[in-house]
Amino acid sequence: MTSFFKTPIEFLKGLGPQKAAHINKELGIFTYADLLQHYPFRYEDRTKFYKVRELNAEMSNVQVKGQIRSKQLIGAGRKQRLAVQFADETGIMELVWFSGINWISPKLRTGVDYVVYGQPKRFGSKYTMAHPELEILTPAVSQNEFLQPVYSTTETLRKRYLDSKAIFKFQKTLLKEAYNRIPETLPPHILQQYGFLAKRDAVVQIHVPKNQQLLQKARFRMKFDEFFFMQLRLLMQKKVRLEKFKGQLLQKTDLLTEFYQSHLPFDLTGAQKKVIKEIFSDFKSGKQMNRLLQGDVGSGKTIVAFISALIAIDSGAQVALMAPTQILANQHYEGLKEFADKIGVTIALLTGSTKTKARREIHENLKSGELKILVGTHALLEEVVQFQNLGLAIVDEQHRYGVAQRARLWKKNENFVPHVLIMTATPIPRTLSMSVYGDLDISIIDELPKGRKPIKTIHQYDANRLKLNGFLKKEIEKGRQVYVVYPLIEESEKLDLKDLMDGYESIARSFPEYPISIVHGKMKAADKDFEMARFVKGETKLMVATTVIEVGVNVPNASVMVIENAERFGLAQLHQLRGRVGRGAEQSYCVLVTSYKLSKEARTRVETMVRTTDGFEIAQVDMNLRGPGDMMGTQQSGQLDLLIGDLREDEPILSIARQSAQAIIAKDPNLESEENALIRRQVENQKKKNLNWSRIS
Ligand code: ADP
Ligand code: MG
Repeated sequence: MTSFFKTPIEFLKGLGPQKAAHINKELGIFTYADLLQHYPFRYEDRTKFYKVRELNAEMSNVQVKGQIRSKQLIGAGRKQRLAVQFADETGIMELVWFSGINWISPKLRTGVDYVVYGQPKRFGSKYTMAHPELEILTPAVSQNEFLQPVYSTTETLRKRYLDSKAIFKFQKTLLKEAYNRIPETLPPHILQQYGFLAKRDAVVQIHVPKNQQLLQKARFRMKFDEFFFMQLRLLMQKKVRLEKFKGQLLQKTDLLTEFYQSHLPFDLTGAQKKVIKEIFSDFKSGKQMNRLLQGDVGSGKTIVAFISALIAIDSGAQVALMAPTQILANQHYEGLKEFADKIGVTIALLTGSTKTKARREIHENLKSGELKILVGTHALLEEVVQFQNLGLAIVDEQHRYGVAQRARLWKKNENFVPHVLIMTATPIPRTLSMSVYGDLDISIIDELPKGRKPIKTIHQYDANRLKLNGFLKKEIEKGRQVYVVYPLIEESEKLDLKDLMDGYESIARSFPEYPISIVHGKMKAADKDFEMARFVKGETKLMVATTVIEVGVNVPNASVMVIENAERFGLAQLHQLRGRVGRGAEQSYCVLVTSYKLSKEARTRVETMVRTTDGFEIAQVDMNLRGPGDMMGTQQSGQLDLLIGDLREDEPILSIARQSAQAIIAKDPNLESEENALIRRQVENQKKKNLNWSRIS
């Protein structure tokens, strides 16, 4: 079967080498398999004919039967247009062409029945359709009620008449030959369980749907296939990992009990307890943990990390925490040290700016086992950093690290791969975490500590600056502190720095009575630290900064976050920034300042921020706006390269597919049973890869 699907498309009837070359180049379609997997991205509803009188301006494309009454050329030169009066028994509308007039005009005949297809626009009292599709009404066409697939193509291809319609024609030709050769990919027990169409019928219905219902069934089946094998692959990777790597047994809890009894500064939330249990059960399992801990900003991940560390330390292991930036490493160090000091656990910070002497001391104490917790940046990965017994590696803000970097941390223990806890403060939609982190176990802190007042978020236009300043003054008089954040995007760094400086000066003029801190990326680390420290101590009342404060900063007394040029920030960033306030007992505010001119997307971002503080909801909107690949960065985008599944809308199907894959692996971990033979073959095919078709067959 594979050799057929590997046939170059030029051999398809009606296609030929020239067209094939263009399609190869423009769409990356080389073989029959590629072509069949070039699925329509939408369908036009040709199941109904409308009357002119039924038209309204809200309609998308519709088709109407009628006759041409007259045509007229209006204007001259580039402004010229062809206006055609088109009527049925209920009224008249106008068809217009602005280009290709010489080509279309001679073809238009009066006294002939046509079907036109296009989007009606209201123009005065009349409806017009610009550049509609036009077809002579034959008995066949008049009964032709169908869903018209629309394929993506390119301008270059369209110029060569290789438009969506042409691709549709090729698909129909190919399907005739391919139908009997398309292999089933799922065993009967799964087909039955979900009432799936056979694979070959699903492929046909995707390209040539008989009706909506069959189309939906076909899409469900095809999406399931894609997700199912993706999940199977991830789960099998996980299984291999669990078998290959033993985990250090970490199960003593004396330290933990002491900490709980004497030093726990607050009651843990239910979500924190749940997550700690999940981690502890991994520690006790003898298997190596690989767990993603998701928790919104302020949800209390630090204490969870610390408690996990305590369990590890109690069993004689050491703990490393790696953060992506110095500021963040610093913050983690401060946060953990507060707890560590209480119970007498040794902790140190290692970053690029650690002095040689301190560094040497850290290296020694780490090797001797004296030092229990080491927090730092990627400086931790250096060869000279040797642990006596690294048992737990905590990695913060995972998406900034590559898998290879994480692996270097693992190698720091020769006997055991350390347990790995990856923390992220950027909520990830479920579909994304199932795909990108599908081989990890996932823990979610989905509850904020009690007593937090929800942050009030306000959208304010530039022009209302006086009012805004008045509000800030009042808050400062109440004893609060204020962040004012400016964007810093690399391409326009100079301009942004100027914006920041202008902003700083204007704030200094508006608030002459208050000391102000300023922090930006062009400052020396020591100066930054100094300014930051003044703000943390409350010596300065306002902090003017670029996004360097985006992550990690914890100043509970700061209760107002003003974000300038908020339209230039992405949703994830806005959410992170807002998370810097709302950490104390006071009512906190986030003010998004924008100009009047906002793109549709920017408006959606601002409105979303005003509407909700739920990080998962925000992440979902973010994914819908940017697409999953963009959201996760290029590193993971390969895994997100789906042919038909859509992580924006297919969470139900993905969940079912994952459950299904889980159930199969639980019963038959190596896919050895007869009933799973088909699945096993698929998986083996996928390993050979390269061949695109292998992904679905
Ligand atoms: P994040 O998840 O953003 O890292 P942190 O661990 O920094 O959150 O916690 C945010 C703040 O909430 C800290 O000041 C922390 O002491 C406090 N906190 C954490 N858990 C609780 C809790 N269960 N009850 C009350 N306060 C808590
Ligand atoms: Mg944190």
